[in-house]
Amino acid sequence: MKVLLAQPRGFCAGVDRAIDVVELALKVYGKPVYVKHAIVHNDHVVRGLEDKGAVFVENVVEIPEGAHAVFSAHGSPPSDYEAARARHLELIDATCPLVTKVHLEAKRFGKEGYTILLVGHKGHVELVGTGGEAPGKAIVLETVDDVQQLQLPADVRTVILTQTTLSVDDTREVIEAIRKKFPQTVLPPSSDICYATTNRQRAVKELAKHVQLVLVVGSQTSSNTNRLVEVAKAHGVAAYRINSSDDINPDWLKGVESVGVTSGASAPEDLVQSVVQYLRTRGAAAVEDFTVLQERVWFNLPQEIRDAAKKRGIDTSLVQKHHIASDHRMGTA
Ligand code: SF4
Repeated sequence: MKVLLAQPRGFCAGVDRAIDVVELALKVYGKPVYVKHAIVHNDHVVRGLEDKGAVFVENVVEIPEGAHAVFSAHGSPPSDYEAARARHLELIDATCPLVTKVHLEAKRFGKEGYTILLVGHKGHVELVGTGGEAPGKAIVLETVDDVQQLQLPADVRTVILTQTTLSVDDTREVIEAIRKKFPQTVLPPSSDICYATTNRQRAVKELAKHVQLVLVVGSQTSSNTNRLVEVAKAHGVAAYRINSSDDINPDWLKGVESVGVTSGASAPEDLVQSVVQYLRTRGAAAVEDFTVLQERVWFNLPQEIRDAAKKRGIDTSLVQKHHIASDHRMGTA
């Protein structure tokens, strides 16, 4: 059996940064550090940080007054920042800069009187944050059917924004349906689906042409992971999401001579390697990289954690080297 490892796969710049923020906060402040929502959608990562002293909560009111707190990579609505101020929290915001970009768009278009057609998964935490920037003006649309059902006054001005981790192909269909029904709809200058989502989907599409089975490592709660499974299936191969090698059903491998492996943007590489190890025990003789493109995207750490570390004489250079400030590099991979 041959194993092909998709490249790019796994951690994106936003996830890498968010995890480093929590680890650094634990080092700077000591435990506990409270984190609102799973810092990234991966159970393995969350458990690892819990072991180091992070405490995960879903609501700001669960965080004790004056505590050190981190907001997750997925972004938070303005009401959460207000609640953090009211509780005098020492807040570090680990929202991915690419999510912040969509928040700023929502805020701007909301202020300009637009109705925001927010394409994404209803109830997903990222959309709660984005929609919160334009209260009462955002409508979440998940499917073409949602678009068909939507009734708006004739003179309404509409703009399309999207969740960052959607399927590029499915989103195109929903956007086309919106533009057909509401031709005056404005599109933002650049796609909101982030570089990491786009690149991982592109890689899995190519991978699917060369293998009989695709295994996608990532948690059930990870939107971009689930999209990778769908994309692989849509390109004609069997595909399964797995948390780790423990989830592999040996029956999936019967008669299979080539397996592709990839991972969602919040899945750590050690889980991928455990899958590779397992496949070796099942007869994988060759394990090869399948490189579709190389990513070179980094985000700087939030200023507040860099300042706090500096004040306490903690050297962040080792962490910082992963996070070279590079706005101009965003989305260039
Ligand atoms: S998947 Fe994209 S938007 Fe989400 S954290 Fe990663 S880079 Fe940021």
